[in-house]
Amino acid sequence: MVGTHTSQHVPPSAGSPTIAVVGSGPSGCYVAQFLSKTWPDSEITVFESLPAPYGLIRYGVAADHQGTKGVVRQFDRLFTRGGIRFAGNVTVGRDIDFSRLATSFDIVVLATGLSGDRELDVPRDPGARVVGAGALLRALNGFPHHGLSRDGTGRCTPLGSRVLVVGMGNVALDVLRLLSKDTAAFTGSDIDDEMLTQLRPERPATLDVIARSGASQAKCDAAMLRELIALNGVNIVASGLDEKDSGPVADLLRSSAAPARDEPGRTRVTFHFGLQPRSVTTRDGRTVLTACRRDDGTPVEFAADAVVTAIGFTQGAAHDDGCPGPDWAGDHVYRAGWLSRGAQGTIAENRKHAQSLVRSIVDDFEAGRITASRPGFAGVADLLAHRAIGFGDWQRIEAAEHRSARPDRCRRKITDLDQMLAIATGAR
Ligand SMILES: Cc1cc2nc3c(=O)[nH]c(=O)nc-3n(C[C@H](O)[C@H](O)[C@H](O)COP(=O)(O)OP(=O)(O)OC[C@H]3O[C@@H](n4cnc5c(N)ncnc54)[C@H](O)[C@@H]3O)c2cc1C
Repeated sequence: MVGTHTSQHVPPSAGSPTIAVVGSGPSGCYVAQFLSKTWPDSEITVFESLPAPYGLIRYGVAADHQGTKGVVRQFDRLFTRGGIRFAGNVTVGRDIDFSRLATSFDIVVLATGLSGDRELDVPRDPGARVVGAGALLRALNGFPHHGLSRDGTGRCTPLGSRVLVVGMGNVALDVLRLLSKDTAAFTGSDIDDEMLTQLRPERPATLDVIARSGASQAKCDAAMLRELIALNGVNIVASGLDEKDSGPVADLLRSSAAPARDEPGRTRVTFHFGLQPRSVTTRDGRTVLTACRRDDGTPVEFAADAVVTAIGFTQGAAHDDGCPGPDWAGDHVYRAGWLSRGAQGTIAENRKHAQSLVRSIVDDFEAGRITASRPGFAGVADLLAHRAIGFGDWQRIEAAEHRSARPDRCRRKITDLDQMLAIATGAR
C-alpha cells in the first residue's frame, strides 16, 4: 500500500508547492516529470484509477508496437528514483471527492484523458453490432473492463468474417492490422491472446474501410499504411481513388492495390473513399451500413457481421463520477493532455504540451497566484489507507505478468482487478 511518508517520496518542504496529478497517462507523467525538474523539493502524487499506470500507453497503443510502449521505462524512473508518489487504484471523484483533493494540494493537474469512443451520429437499429475502436483495442490490450458484448458463456462475441471499419486515422489502421495479422506474427507483443481468439477466431475474409475524405486528405500516417500493406495474407484494394488524389497514402494505395477478389485464407482490405455514413440497420442477422457518395449523393450499402467505428474519442459516460465536470475547477486547477486538447496528438505531442503547461503553472506560482500552503498527500491519506497501491505494489503485478507470459510474448496482462490487487498487496 502507498505510504504517507516513505524514504522514496519527497515530503512537502516549506516553500515548494504540494502537487496532485490526476491520471498517469503520458500527459500526467510528463507534467509530473517537468514539475519535479522545476521543484525538486515539491511533493508530487500521481493518482490513477487503475492499479496499473500509464493510461493509453498500456491500454491503447497497439500490443504489437512495443517500441512505442517502451516510453514507460523513463516514466518508471519518476516513481522509482524521482521521488514521485504513485497512488493507484484511486479514482478521483469516487474514492476522493474532487473538493477534498483541491483543498489538500496547492496545485492540481487533471490529466484524465478521453475514454469514450465517439459514436456515429446516424440513426442506428438497436440490434446492429457496432463496436468502438477504443473498446476493441482496450480488449486486445488486456483492459480489465472493456464493455464488449459477451455470449451466455461469458466469451466475447466474435466480430465475424466481414467487418466494416469507419474512419481512416491511425487508430483505424491499428484495428485493420490487428484483425488481419497472422497469430504467429504477434511474437514479442503483449496481445491478449484469449481476447484475440474470442473476437477473431479466424482472420476476417474482408475488411471494408469507409473514409469520408478522399485519399489525399486521409489522416493516417503513411508508415502505418505501409505496415498493413506489408502483412502476409492481406490483399489491398482501393475504391474511389481519384486520379487527382495525391500524397503518400494515395501513392501507396496505387502501387499496392490488387484486383478485388476473395481468396481463401487471405484478408481483403478495401479502402472506400468519399463516403458519408447515413444509417446503420440490420437485415437477415447482419449489420448494414448505408453511406452516400459525397460527390453525387449515390447511396451505397455494406452488409457486415460487425462495424468498428474509429472516429475519435470523448469523455466517458456523463454519469461517471470519475469524469471531470465543469465544477472540477479553481485558480490552482489545470488540465493537461487529451482532456484539455481533445483526442488528438501523439505521446510526443503530450510532452510538448506538458512542458508549456508547466511553464504557465510556474508563472502563476511566481506571480503569487498560487501559494505553497496546503498539506498535500497527508490531507487525503486517511481516505486511502486501505485502498491506494504504490509503485512497488504495481511492480509486483508487473513481475507476475512477465513471469506468466508465454515464451513468444513479452508479458501476459492480468485482466482481473481483484487478482491485480491481491498480487499488489501480497495476498494469495
Ligand atoms: C487506440 C489508440 C492507439 C494509440 N496509439 C498511439 C501510438 O502508437 N503512438 C502515439 O504516440 N500515440 C498513440 N495514441 C495516442 C496516445 O495514446 C495519447 O496521445 C495519450 O495517451 C493521451 O494521453 P493522456 O495522458 O491525455 O490520456 P490517457 O493516456 O488516456 O491517460 C489518462 C489516465 O487517467 C486515468 N484516469 C481517468 N480518470 C481518472 C480519475 N477520475 N482518477 C484517477 N485517474 C483517472 C486513466 O485511467 C488513464 O490512466 C493512441 C491512442 C489510442 C486511443
